Amino acid sequence: MDNIVIFGAPGSGKGTYSAALVKEFGYNHISTGDVLRAEIKAGTKLGKIVKGYIDQGQLIPDEHMIDILAGVYDSMLDGPGVIFDGFPRTIVQAKALKDMLQERGEKITITINLNVSEDVLMERLLRRAKIEGRADDNEETIKKRFKVYYNQTYPLIEWFKNEGVLSEFTFKGDTNLIIKEIIEKVASL
Ligand code: AMP
Repeated sequence: MDNIVIFGAPGSGKGTYSAALVKEFGYNHISTGDVLRAEIKAGTKLGKIVKGYIDQGQLIPDEHMIDILAGVYDSMLDGPGVIFDGFPRTIVQAKALKDMLQERGEKITITINLNVSEDVLMERLLRRAKIEGRADDNEETIKKRFKVYYNQTYPLIEWFKNEGVLSEFTFKGDTNLIIKEIIEKVASL
C-alpha cells in the first residue's frame, strides 16, 4: 500500500494536490484539518477541545492528533493507499506516524514537499477566506500559522530527507503543471 505524505506551509495546495492524487490513483485521503473541523461542527467533546487551538492558529497537542490519526487510518486499509494531508506537523508526530505504520507492516512511500513563496501563500489564503469562510483564514491568524509552520513543522523536511523519502516540488505559477509533475512522480514509484 502507498503511504504518501503531502507537506507544505498553510496555503501551499495540499488539499488540491491530494484531490488530484485521489482522482488519479483512487487513494484514501486523511486531512487532519478536515477531521478536526468536522468534530467542531458536530459539537463533539474533541471538537470543543480543538476549537480554541485552531482559531488561534496553534497546533493541537500531539497526543490528541496521534489517536485521531490511527483511528482514521485503520478505516482505510482496504484501498491502494492513503494520503496524509496536514499530518505530521511536528517531529513527535512524524515519529508516531513511522511507528504506527511499522506496527502495521507499512512505511512512508514518499513525502511530497510543496515549495511556494510566502506572498503567494498569503494571497491564496485571503482569497480562500472569502470563499470558504474558515475562521483561521484572517491575516493575523495566517501570520501566526506561518510562524508555527516555520518553528514546528519546517524542521521535518530534514527529518524526511534523513528517512530517504523526501521529494520536492516548487510552484512556479502553474497549478496544472505541478499536478502533472506530482502524478508522474507517484506513478513512477
Ligand atoms: P489545515 O486544514 O491542515 O490547515 O489545519 C487547520 C488547523 O488544524 C491547523 O492550523 C491546526 O490548528 C489544526 N491541525 C491540523 N492538523 C494538525 C496536526 N497534524 N497537528 C496539530 N494540529 C493540526
